[in-house]
Amino acid sequence: MTRRRQIYEGKAKILYEGPEPGTIVQYFKDDATAGNGAKKGTITGKGVLNNRISEYLMTQIEDIGIPTHFIRRLNMREQLVKAVEIIPLEIVVRNVAAGSIVKRLGLEEGVRLPRPLVEYYLKNDELNDPLVLEDYITAFNWATVQEMDEIVTYTLRINDFLSGLLLGVGIKLIDFKLEFGRYWKDEESHIVLADEISPDNCRFWDIESGEKLDKDRFRRDLGKVEEAYQEVARRLKILPESNVESIKGKGPESI
Ligand code: 5GP
Repeated sequence: MTRRRQIYEGKAKILYEGPEPGTIVQYFKDDATAGNGAKKGTITGKGVLNNRISEYLMTQIEDIGIPTHFIRRLNMREQLVKAVEIIPLEIVVRNVAAGSIVKRLGLEEGVRLPRPLVEYYLKNDELNDPLVLEDYITAFNWATVQEMDEIVTYTLRINDFLSGLLLGVGIKLIDFKLEFGRYWKDEESHIVLADEISPDNCRFWDIESGEKLDKDRFRRDLGKVEEAYQEVARRLKILPESNVESIKGKGPESI
């Protein structure tokens, strides 16, 4: 096995120093957590599927002109990405009421919101990722006004684009979380989409049955968790059905 320097280990991914300066290798784990680590488990094959799903969606987003950190997929569980300075915010977009907004505002789950709502959360596990205002973001220099304008513009375009793309495969995009970073080039920083886009950080519902095809199956003990991730990959036609069985349990040794 090649030796390389680990930069960071998160709940679902490990970051390693990349082969060229300014690059990072993102390794996707099967580990799953919910409630800020209160619930822990493993979703067999999740890392392999999220690597592929995120590759596909990031590539499509790049194709519509939104810069992303994605460079290329390296193998079953790893992708090469640009090293960016992560903006310490989680940007959530909601089209339909679900999850924390249902509790916060007493809404009925499944009700379409009057328009897509954009929320900001501070990335801070100790504080449980609190909801924050744009005024906090600029006052504490987490991001500038110009950066936030760009982030919100990109986020709403991504929402429109992904909603359409997913509708075409029978999936309703309920909500999702994005992270952005600053990519430095020629001494100028550019906002780029970072992290991942997968059933770990999106809510996907089947358009016909309303069945949940995302991490809520794990969070809420609904069963058929692996199957839900596989179903998303199958619908996006990024994993031929014949390959689904063979990815189960594939670890780094088998790459
Ligand atoms: P909620 O605020 O309703 O819990 O989450 C809204 C959306 O953002 C959901 O699609 C959820 O998956 C995603 N999300 C929010 N916070 C996190 C987080 O800390 N990690 C991940 N993976 N997704 C999150």
